[in-house]
Amino acid sequence: MALFGTNGVRGIANEYLNPELAVNLARSLGTYMGSKGTVAIGCDTRISGQMLKSAAIAGALSTGLNVIDVGIVPTPSIQYYVRDYADAGIVITASHNPREYNGIKFIAGDGSEFPRDGEKEIEKIYYSGKYALVSWEKTGSFKTDPGVNEYYLKNVINSVDAEIIRNRRFKVVIDTGCGAGSLTLPFLLSELGCQVLTLGAQPDGTFPWRNPEPAPEALTELSKLVKMTGADMGAAHDGDADRIVFIDENGEFINEEILLAMMAKYILENEKGPIVTPVSSSQRMADVAKDAGVELYWTAVGSINVARKMMEVNAVFGGEGNGGLIFPRHQYCRDGAVACAKILEILAGGKKLSELAKSVPEYFNAKTKVPSEDTQATMERVKLEASELGLKIDTLDGIKILYEDGWVLIRPSGTEPIIRIFAEAKKQERAEELMQEGVNMVIGAEKASILE
Ligand code: MG
Repeated sequence: MALFGTNGVRGIANEYLNPELAVNLARSLGTYMGSKGTVAIGCDTRISGQMLKSAAIAGALSTGLNVIDVGIVPTPSIQYYVRDYADAGIVITASHNPREYNGIKFIAGDGSEFPRDGEKEIEKIYYSGKYALVSWEKTGSFKTDPGVNEYYLKNVINSVDAEIIRNRRFKVVIDTGCGAGSLTLPFLLSELGCQVLTLGAQPDGTFPWRNPEPAPEALTELSKLVKMTGADMGAAHDGDADRIVFIDENGEFINEEILLAMMAKYILENEKGPIVTPVSSSQRMADVAKDAGVELYWTAVGSINVARKMMEVNAVFGGEGNGGLIFPRHQYCRDGAVACAKILEILAGGKKLSELAKSVPEYFNAKTKVPSEDTQATMERVKLEASELGLKIDTLDGIKILYEDGWVLIRPSGTEPIIRIFAEAKKQERAEELMQEGVNMVIGAEKASILE
């Protein structure tokens, strides 16, 4: 069984994701690192965080790694710290997953997400059970560093024009959902001279306020409060604050694909260079790149693929259409706090958030999923049929069929027996039509596989 999913190892805390797993994963990391180096270990606000973090610390020490316990931290905060002060990192987080979950994610020495081949090696060590345990006198050293979030925030502020933001004295309502961002976002905004109103800003692993996923339907109170108080905007993090979403001054949720393109447009107005996004992202990104006269690189889905490509092509910006934005001048990983500071920097230019959202091209989407007995065989057939029909396809991740006036992406789920179909076009009816064409192809391929 594959241990690592798209975002580390995830499971229900103290069931699948228990202390034994945490000890042994940390031992696997220590073995992989040759029992040398320093690892920073932190967690989000989940109740099981302390338990799993303690286990991971014990595991790392037992293989001779030196450990710095960084306490409760947003994922981008520990990533920034690892880049500057450690050789690797472990963060105990299940990001946006429901309360009962937790996860273990490794961070590479440069602060980016751990490479897939590294995870595979660690998985091998884990299943072999052969850990490089050291003798008593070589067990690692331990210290805590309570200043990690402060260090991170200082650097977030340095990555934007703080003066022009402070001069505007913005009023911002935030909903950090009782997650790790509760320890950073309110302080960041205060430092940037904002009047801050908070919802769910007490760190609390029972998540009494809302689920860690900042979905529009979970943010109705935030939206109301933005309108009621005449705030300039609202902002909400997921559980580990690598992602952020925004509410405009009218209380309207900003679609994350629009946010991504809006940010790309702004960055490109100030700096020219390539941008990077996964194949699932909106055509808006291509339009923005074309207007700016820069190259756009598409990647497979997953922020690590985006980040690695960004390093390779020296991109000026990249990100996914889920509120995960990457600012390489700060660091090569999704960073919700920088995204928030950047949005304020844009607003300092005088436009309202709703106006900015309207400044990127309009597209419409439609999505659905189809059950599949054998996703791999079905995908092969879909690919065959698409090429027989002479359709223009991109197979970077799943099958993306490109039409003159839109596209449809057909991708198997990594965890369930379903195939996802996602379409985009300039008109809503056309997006639905393209989605239906995708559905028909998948169902046709499914039937053909059964007849075989
Ligand atoms: Mg997250």
